[in-house]
Amino acid sequence: TLVQAVWTNAEARPDAAQFARRTDAGWEDITCARFRDDVVALARGLVAAGVAPGDRVGLISRTRYEWTLIDYAIWACGAVTVPIYETSSPDQIQWILSDSAAVACFVETADHAANLGRVRDDLPDLRHTWEIEAGGLTELIAAGGPVDPAEVDRRRLAGRADDLATIIYTSGTTGRPKGCVLTHRNIYADIANTIPHLPNLFQPGAATLLFLPLAHSFARIIQVGVVEAQVHTAYTADPRNLLADLGSFKPTFVLAVPRVFEKVFNGARQKAVDGGNGALFDRATAVAVAYSEALDAGGPNLVLRLRHMLFDLLVYRKLRAAMGGRCQAAISGGAPLGARLAHFFRGIGVTIYEGYGLTETSPAVAVNLEDHIRIGTVGRPLPGVTVRIDDDGEILIKGDIVFKGYFNAPAATAEVLDADGWFHTGDLGALDDDGYLSITGRKKEIIVTAGGKNVAPAVLEDRIRAHPLISQCMVVGDRQPFVAALVTIDEESFPAWCNANGKPADARPGDLRDDEDLRREVQTAVDEANRAVSKAESIRVFRILSEDF
Ligand code: ATP
Repeated sequence: TLVQAVWTNAEARPDAAQFARRTDAGWEDITCARFRDDVVALARGLVAAGVAPGDRVGLISRTRYEWTLIDYAIWACGAVTVPIYETSSPDQIQWILSDSAAVACFVETADHAANLGRVRDDLPDLRHTWEIEAGGLTELIAAGGPVDPAEVDRRRLAGRADDLATIIYTSGTTGRPKGCVLTHRNIYADIANTIPHLPNLFQPGAATLLFLPLAHSFARIIQVGVVEAQVHTAYTADPRNLLADLGSFKPTFVLAVPRVFEKVFNGARQKAVDGGNGALFDRATAVAVAYSEALDAGGPNLVLRLRHMLFDLLVYRKLRAAMGGRCQAAISGGAPLGARLAHFFRGIGVTIYEGYGLTETSPAVAVNLEDHIRIGTVGRPLPGVTVRIDDDGEILIKGDIVFKGYFNAPAATAEVLDADGWFHTGDLGALDDDGYLSITGRKKEIIVTAGGKNVAPAVLEDRIRAHPLISQCMVVGDRQPFVAALVTIDEESFPAWCNANGKPADARPGDLRDDEDLRREVQTAVDEANRAVSKAESIRVFRILSEDF
């Protein structure tokens, strides 16, 4: 099982720094030996609490060392981690913990504990909760004292590759999120396919900073990869600390979603504009893009000189410094990156390896590997992964990375996993003559935001329509990173709303389309629905229509 690497590392390089934890005094290193000892201590606590092999254990936390520690401790005693986004509503938490019949749940903060507390009565299987920020781990470790450490060894050695490692809930296109069941073999296959082919990134001496949510398969898999490859890894839980942490920890590579790259780019642009250098920044960007394109064409000399002139002068140094100075590479996934951003970053010396994957495929299907980058594609399918495009243009996948199915949902599983073992992704794509894959569209009813979040329009629309003032709603993927809602106003409840808000009694919805109070009311309804069912960053009320559609 995946947990074996923790023991192998602790024996081979006990004093090597594996993780770094942020403290008031700076970064505190956690060695390979210390990590194993922490895992054992916590696993003994779980055994003492009665967590049995195969049991599901929930985890609600931001990205921090304890996330990884808990994940491995759960694995060390043969149990299954059920990650939950820390932004999840009580309703979502209740659904995930009850569907997975979790026997225990870790929460990070008092807020998370309160959210769980609201639905505690509807979770008959849940026997324990431990709150990280309230000393929950110390308590658990103390309770595990009487448990023989040999019991943890016994369970670890009894674990099998086909045991469940995790159930990750992903948003379904209809109804509730579905639990994606991944085994140790699934996740290991992903690591084995990817890491040896990114040797500049994954090697002892490399360092990375994790800041994407570990509840998502993308960061989660890298978390496993850094243990396998012994990459020194730090965590940023609060995005406000990201730039400072990049500057002080100095990772050699990071993983991010396109929205993050866009933010870095826009931030640099804004600084240039504020400093009166906006036009120069635009020219510098054009040069970076031209430089990167010329690299492909093989004639970079002239643009190289230009790049030094403009870039070193203006943005190159600042951006590189902001990214920690050492950071030369990034992995992007979850949503399309766009050629402009890819070229821009390459032009300033940060290579972005764009990949494609889904939670159901553990997740990496294809990645642009070192020296084999084709901007605009998601790279070639990884070794061990077979990709086929069917007659409708849908991407089908086979290999050890393909999940076991949705938990408790055989019908939903049968819709995507066929009898021959092909997983139907719902994405449309094309393979070029050299085998590079591009994502050309989507068959499934899903909007992918630039933050890499899936928004199922049908689920969200239902929720928005439940508001009395709204009769129709359509949620669409607008210009990235926006998801926008088009709504029509319910004719029947509209007069009462006008009355309560001091609007003319005979007003028609169409007359008040641009009315601020009405817009605010609708926006609030949309925000509430969004919080309840989706993880999208923001949903803009794009237009209030006067007629039903
Ligand atoms: P959740 O469902 O929990 O909200 P999520 O949206 O991130 O999380 P994933 O399973 O990771 O769930 O989403 C996978 C989808 O993201 C793919 O099916 C594909 O549509 C899209 N995707 C991933 N990588 C890329 C990429 N490089 N380019 C275009 N689309 C991508």
